[in-house]
Amino acid sequence: MNLKQLITKAIVNILFLSFISLVFTVSLQAQNTVIKAGHLFDSRTGKMLNDQTIIIKDGKILEVGSNLKFESTDTVINLSKSWVLPGLMDCHVHITSNYPYRNLLDISSIYITESSSLRALRGAFVAEQLLMSGFTTIKEIGNDANYATADIIKAIRQGWAKGPTIFYAGKIIAPYGGQTFLVNIENEHLWDFEYIDADTPDEMKKAVRKNIYYGANVIKLVSGDQAYYDLEDIKAAVDEAKKTGLKVTVHVMGGIAARNVILGGAAAIEHGFDLDDDLLRLMKEEGTFLVGTDFSFDNWYAYGLDSGYSKSLEKKIVDRLKRAYKIGTKMAFGTDILIDMPGLNRIQTTLKVLQTWKAAELPSSYVLQTMTIYAAELLGVEKSRGVLEQSYWADIIAIKSNPLEDIEDIKNVHFVMKEGKIIKHE
Ligand SMILES: [Zn+2]
Repeated sequence: MNLKQLITKAIVNILFLSFISLVFTVSLQAQNTVIKAGHLFDSRTGKMLNDQTIIIKDGKILEVGSNLKFESTDTVINLSKSWVLPGLMDCHVHITSNYPYRNLLDISSIYITESSSLRALRGAFVAEQLLMSGFTTIKEIGNDANYATADIIKAIRQGWAKGPTIFYAGKIIAPYGGQTFLVNIENEHLWDFEYIDADTPDEMKKAVRKNIYYGANVIKLVSGDQAYYDLEDIKAAVDEAKKTGLKVTVHVMGGIAARNVILGGAAAIEHGFDLDDDLLRLMKEEGTFLVGTDFSFDNWYAYGLDSGYSKSLEKKIVDRLKRAYKIGTKMAFGTDILIDMPGLNRIQTTLKVLQTWKAAELPSSYVLQTMTIYAAELLGVEKSRGVLEQSYWADIIAIKSNPLEDIEDIKNVHFVMKEGKIIKHE
C-alpha cells in the first residue's frame, strides 16, 4: 500500500466512524417522547394546568412544564385537545372472579367448577380491560383460587399478557371458614382454595409468610364476617408484614372489629360500610385509609338483593362517604366488583360506583385524587407513581372532556401510556 492509498483508507475510516457516531447520536436523541397536553391534572393540588409539555425518557418523566424545549428528533404525541391525567388506580379488584348474577348462594360452587388455570385466563383478560380503560395500577385483593394472579403477574412481566402494575394479596387470611357459609363438615377446608384459616397470632404469622412466599406484596385479612380478630391478631399480621415492607389491609364493616383493625396498625379498612363518626375520626388520627368499595344500586342488586334493600344500602354508603369526607378520613379509590352486569363488561360494571361518589357530592378533583395520588400513598408508591412530575413513572392517560366537570367522563379514556410505552391511542 503506498502513501496515497494509506491516506485514502484513513479518510474512508474517519468518514465511516463519523457516520456511525452520527447515527448513534441521532438514535440517542430520538429516545425521548414528548406529550403536548392541552390540560394536565395536577393530582397534588387537584387543579388542571393548561398547555403543559411532558418529556419522557426510559419510561420515566424527565421534565414537565409550559414551553419546554425538546429535540426535533423526539417523538411528539399531540394531546393538545385532551385532558391528561396520571394513570388511574383501583385499590380493590378481583380480576380472576366473576360470580353468577343475582345468585349469591352459588359462590362456593366455584371452588368445584372453576380451576386455577381458568381463573388465571379470566384474570389476564380483565387485567387487559383495566389497562385499556386507564387503570395502570391495581390492588388485586384475593379470591383468586390457588394464587392464580401470581401467574398473571409473571405473564405480564414476560410480555405474554398486557395488564396494569399489580399489587397482590395472595390468599385471603380469615378466621376459620374464610367467607364461606353453610358448608357441611364433609367439605371442611373447601375454602382452602381461596382462604387461609388463621385463628391465633402464630397462625397469622405463618399465613403472612405463606402468602409472601407465593408472591404477595400486600396482606389482606377479613375480620367480623363470622368471628372477628383481636387486637393482638391484627398486630401479629402487621408486624410480620412490616418485616418485608408490606402493608396490611382488612375487610371489615365497623364496630369493635374495625376498632381493632385501626389500633392494630393496619394501613386500610376495606368496605367499612358500618363505620360511625367516632371510628372515622380514629382512622383520621391513626392515618388509616378507607377503601370504601362504594357500590351503586346496580352493584348491590347484582348480588341478588331486592331493589328496596339495594336502595337502602346505596343510601347508607352515600351517607358514609359524605361523613368520611367531612371528617377528613384518608380515602383511596377501590371498587370490589365481582359480578358483571348483563350486557356490560367488567369495567362498565365497575365504574357504576362513580354514581355513588356523585350522589355523595364529593368534588370530582377529590375523587380523581383518591384514584391517583392518595391511592399511590396507600400502595406505598407515592414517590414513583400517581403524580405527573419529574422522575415519576410515565403512567399517563387522556380523555377528550374535562373530568372535573363530570367525573363519569373518565369512562372514555382514549390514550393510555404505561411506564412510557403507548398502550392505546385513539
Ligand atoms: Zn372484595
